Amino acid sequence: MTVQYSPLDYRNDVKPVWCVGCGHFGVLNAVYQALATLQLPPENVALVSGIGCSSRLPGYVRTYGFNALHGRVLPIALGVKLARPETVVIGITGDGDALSIGMGHYPHAARRNIDITLIMMDNGIYGLTKGQVSPTLTEGEITKTTIYGNIDHPIDAVRFALGCQTSLIARSTSLDPKHMAEMIVRGIKHRGFSLVHVLSPCVTFRGREQYNWIREHTEPLPESHNPEDFRSALDAAYREDKLYTGLIYQEERDDYGSRVSALCERSQSKGILTLEELARQFLI
Ligand code: SF4
Repeated sequence: MTVQYSPLDYRNDVKPVWCVGCGHFGVLNAVYQALATLQLPPENVALVSGIGCSSRLPGYVRTYGFNALHGRVLPIALGVKLARPETVVIGITGDGDALSIGMGHYPHAARRNIDITLIMMDNGIYGLTKGQVSPTLTEGEITKTTIYGNIDHPIDAVRFALGCQTSLIARSTSLDPKHMAEMIVRGIKHRGFSLVHVLSPCVTFRGREQYNWIREHTEPLPESHNPEDFRSALDAAYREDKLYTGLIYQEERDDYGSRVSALCERSQSKGILTLEELARQFLI
């Protein structure tokens, strides 16, 4: 008998401790929906997160989960994927976790094209530690640590991802979990590194107006947009007055796991060296 999974089948008994109205509830529902759309058995999925309100998410999903150190989502996710290539690995991170302390890992995960999907929940603030400025906060905004206005220029996650050769880049918002689920499904189906950038309000430290800001400043990509054209993706990412939602960029290229397997085959075809033979290559 074939088991049919519904979104509810991925929900576990742990109740989210997010503030009422937090955008991350929308992301959680989109994750349930995406897993059900793909009919993924829970034991075939691993969610790896860092630290932050966003990174609590794996605790609320009935799959394998791992809560890594702050910013260390990508190296752990890479390890899981290489050790268990058959597992669908999803990274869960926030703007601070991914683009501040964990920033150094991103370009390498992208250029290697590791086969994972990274969901980056971006609210421009460190919510878990009560409202410090994050690298994606727009200039001039007030937070607990920028009481006279933020003087730093923000990082735009999508522009950054394009510069790092990310092979699939999509954007969605917590206002539309159905659309977000579609983007997550595309990311999981993609053989390589995919980023789903999600604008997800922090109602406690940015206020409910953040929902209005997202409503006013986002727009779906036009139907004429060709995600396989890098120039079009750049134009879409660099639009100044609005942030586009949808599939911004996608290219097909070998993922890291298949290149590692090919390397293992090449090395084995040359025969396995003994430790002594190996040592002779390095010792005079
Ligand atoms: S502090 Fe902000 S991000 Fe964290 S749970 Fe509350 S609303 Fe969500």
